[in-house]
Amino acid sequence: MTQSFSELSLSPTIERAVAEMGYETMTPIQAQAIPVVLQGRDVMGAAQTGTGKTAAFTLPLLQRMLKHENASTSPARHPVRALVLLPTRELADQVAEQVKLYAKYTNLRSTVVFGGIDMKPQTAELKKGVEVLVATPGRLLDHIEAKNCVLNQVEYVVLDEADRMLDIGFLPDLQRILSFLPKQRTTLLFSATFSPEIKRLANSYLQDPVTIEVARSNATASTVEQHFYRVEDDDKRGTLKQILRERGLKQAFVFVNSKLGCARLARSLEREGLNTTALHGDKSQDERLKALAAFKAGEVDLLVCTDVAARGLDIKDVPAVFNFDIPFNAEDYVHRIGRTGRAGASGLAVSFVSGRDTRLMGDLEKLLGKKLELEALEFEADRRPAGRFNDGQRAWQQPEDGERRESRAIRESRDSRPPREGRADQRPARAPRPPADPLFDKPYEPSAASDAPPAWEVAQRPAARAASPNIKTRRKVAALFKSAPAPVQES
Ligand code: AMP
Repeated sequence: MTQSFSELSLSPTIERAVAEMGYETMTPIQAQAIPVVLQGRDVMGAAQTGTGKTAAFTLPLLQRMLKHENASTSPARHPVRALVLLPTRELADQVAEQVKLYAKYTNLRSTVVFGGIDMKPQTAELKKGVEVLVATPGRLLDHIEAKNCVLNQVEYVVLDEADRMLDIGFLPDLQRILSFLPKQRTTLLFSATFSPEIKRLANSYLQDPVTIEVARSNATASTVEQHFYRVEDDDKRGTLKQILRERGLKQAFVFVNSKLGCARLARSLEREGLNTTALHGDKSQDERLKALAAFKAGEVDLLVCTDVAARGLDIKDVPAVFNFDIPFNAEDYVHRIGRTGRAGASGLAVSFVSGRDTRLMGDLEKLLGKKLELEALEFEADRRPAGRFNDGQRAWQQPEDGERRESRAIRESRDSRPPREGRADQRPARAPRPPADPLFDKPYEPSAASDAPPAWEVAQRPAARAASPNIKTRRKVAALFKSAPAPVQES
C-alpha cells in the first residue's frame, strides 16, 4: 500500500501545499482512498473525523480538477466542478479552510456556503465563479433556487458525514441537489457507520463503489487514555479543576448533555476565573465560529460544549476531553473523545460517572464491547465556596491547610462498608499526591516543559480573532460570549 505522498504523483503545486502541512506519511484512509479516487472510482468510506479523511477526498479532488485550472477572470471559465456537502456549518467552514490550504498554489478557486449568515457575500463569491464548492445542503438549495450557481458541470461530489446528514433530515435536500448533477461523475460517500439507510443512499447514487473501512465505527482511538471516575454532581466542578491542575493541562473540551447545563457550567467556570466559553446550539452561528476560533488560537482554555455543537469539529491537539455528563447516546462518547488523541497524538478522556448513570454506562459498555472500570478519585477541594484566583487573579488559591476532602461517593461507600484491602473505593487515585505535597503550599505554577503559562492561571486573555475569512465580525467578542440566544440546532 502507498504510504508516502510522493508516491502518488500529485502535481508539484499540491505536493508543495501538503509538504507545508508537515505531513510525513499518509494516514490509512488516505493511503487507501487517494489512489482509488485518482483512478476515477467511487468510494464508500467508513471513517471518523480525525482519521485524515478531509485530505483523503480533497487531494484527489484537486488533482483531478487541475485540468480545468485557468487564470481567466471570467466567471464563465470557473464553473462549479466539485461539490462537497457536509451536515453542519462548522464542518463546512473547516473543510473549506483545508481545501483552500491544499489549493493555495493552484489557480483553482473554492468557496463555502452555509446557513445562518447573510447570503449576499456568498452570492458574490459564487458569481465570480468557483471550481470547488463546499456547502451545507439547505443553503446550497437556497443558492440554486436564487440561480446563484449551476451544478450541471459538476464532476466530483463528496457526501461527508453522510450518516449525520441523514440524522438531521437532509435526505430530501440531498436527493434534490443530486438530481441537478450530471450522472457521469465521481461520488464519494463518507460515514461513521454503514447503516441500512446509508447503504440505500449509496446504492442510489454511487456506481460500483470501492468500500474502504479504516476503523470500526464504534472503536475509540487507542491513543486516548480513558478514565471513568465516580463523581457526584456537586463534586464535578472541583474534580474537573483538580484534574486540570494535576495533569498540567492547557486546554480541554468539557462535554455536557444540555444547552442549559452547558451555559450554566461555562458561566460558573468563567466566574471562578477559568478562561471558558460555551458552544451550544443556542449560540448564533457567528458566536459559535468565534468561540471555536478563539479556542483554536489558544485564547480560550476550556470549551464547554454540547454534542450537536461539537460534532466533527477538527481541533488539533486538544490534550483532554471531559465528559462532565455521561452522554445519553453512547455513540456520542466515541464522537466526544475523538476530539483528543487525533491523527496519532495522545490524549486523555475523563468521564464523571454519577450514581444516576448506571444505565448509560451499561449502554456504553455494550457499544465499546468491554467492561469499563470505575475508578474512585480522592480529591482535594478548595474549602472556599468556589475555586478562585488570588494575587490579582494570577495564581490559583490553594486550600489553606492542604487538607483534602473526599468525594461524596467515597465517603458514602466507606461509611456503609467495612474497609477491605484493594477495594476500588479505597484504591488511591491514579496519580495520588500526599497531602504534604509542596504543590499545596504554593501557588500553582506552569510545568517547566511548557513555554506558555498554564491556562488555569490566566484569568484574562485577549479577545478572539475573527472566526474565519468567511465570517465577518459584527460585534465585539467580549459582548459576544454573553449575548442573547439565537436559532437552535439541537433538539
Ligand atoms: P480529518 O479527519 O480530516 O478531520 O483530519 C484530522 C486531522 O489530521 C487534521 O487536523 C489534519 O490536519 C490531520 N492530518 C490529515 N492528514 C494527515 C497526515 N497524513 N499526517 C498527519 N496529520 C494529518
